[in-house]
Amino acid sequence: MSRNAAIIVAAGCGSRIGSDMPKQYLPLGGIPVLRRATLAFTEHPGIASVTWVINFDDRDLYEESAGGLDLLPPVQGGVRRQDSVRLGLESLVELAPDKVLIHDAARPLVDADTITAVITALDKATGAIAAVPVTDTLKRASDGYIENTLNRGGLWRAQTPQGFGFAEILEAHRAVANSSELTDDAAVAEQAGLDVVLALGSENNLKITTQEDFHRAEKILMTDSTTTTAGLRVGSGFDVHRFTDGDHITICGVAIPHDRGLAGHSDADVGMHALTDAILGALGESDIGQHFPPSDARWKDANSEIFLSHAARLVAERRGRINYVDITLICEAPKLAPHRTSMITRMGDILGLPSDRISIKATTTEKLGFTGRGEGIAAQATATISLP
Ligand code: MG
Repeated sequence: MSRNAAIIVAAGCGSRIGSDMPKQYLPLGGIPVLRRATLAFTEHPGIASVTWVINFDDRDLYEESAGGLDLLPPVQGGVRRQDSVRLGLESLVELAPDKVLIHDAARPLVDADTITAVITALDKATGAIAAVPVTDTLKRASDGYIENTLNRGGLWRAQTPQGFGFAEILEAHRAVANSSELTDDAAVAEQAGLDVVLALGSENNLKITTQEDFHRAEKILMTDSTTTTAGLRVGSGFDVHRFTDGDHITICGVAIPHDRGLAGHSDADVGMHALTDAILGALGESDIGQHFPPSDARWKDANSEIFLSHAARLVAERRGRINYVDITLICEAPKLAPHRTSMITRMGDILGLPSDRISIKATTTEKLGFTGRGEGIAAQATATISLP
């Protein structure tokens, strides 16, 4: 059984991100940043306990973020980061873990490999920190003018987690309790003369400081190979409308002359309805009837563009992306193929998608069934979306 503890430091107020809510509680891909930063530790076999150091003023946010996680009681943080870490360490004195990993809540994309690398490196030194080598050429500048080029050899960017022997780092933190500000725990260890080694971190383990960092983290979540399939959703939709008297039908936003019309509460755009349901299905957001009840007079003769735009907006609100849509229209007449290009253009305008991400095709049912008898038109659709 592992005797290693983890402390997640989340007491800061994160004022630089331009949000009322402290950044560690902002939802990143639907999961609060602090909770994301914690999951890799609670799920790691080398970590036996996790403690959060928070600001108790954020108690409600904390409780929302902690739901269902196996955590030790939270600890009230201090004024400076190093005060918060020291208070977190003091809370573990009775538990007396062998080693402790200290991690910043602002690094929510930490992975199991990085945690393992730090724990493994602690076999050869009292301290070990996740870090990545500096690959950019470094310039020292003044007023925008380069003064000189620095040698980047031997330079690393420090990340967290930073791991230490528990007794040693507790002692080191107590020793600097009244000293000037130190930006990470490795600096505290250096002051105490502890040996600290580097363990290879990950470029994805970025620190969220600005709004731009936040968007970068969202992008990584959406494209990272380990999470791509987790965020990939496929939804399907199906719809039928009956023929009635009329002189045209509207399919995928295009009015097509015909000797019949389509019956429906709205404009009966069967293609758009099937696709709306496919997108709602991929989101797990029920169906078109739930969002736009036929009993509601507002949707009488409505342009179905309203429904499809609504579904696309729900994807955008969750910071997702529609990757591809595919619609099959099923009827004997009218001939739909000649209208395919204008349908794709229209759907692309509504969804904000290029035409190579939209497929619309038409088929018959060989005169079989209700579509074969010319009683109505059916449509089926699939939508592939990515959610962060
Ligand atoms: Mg319908």
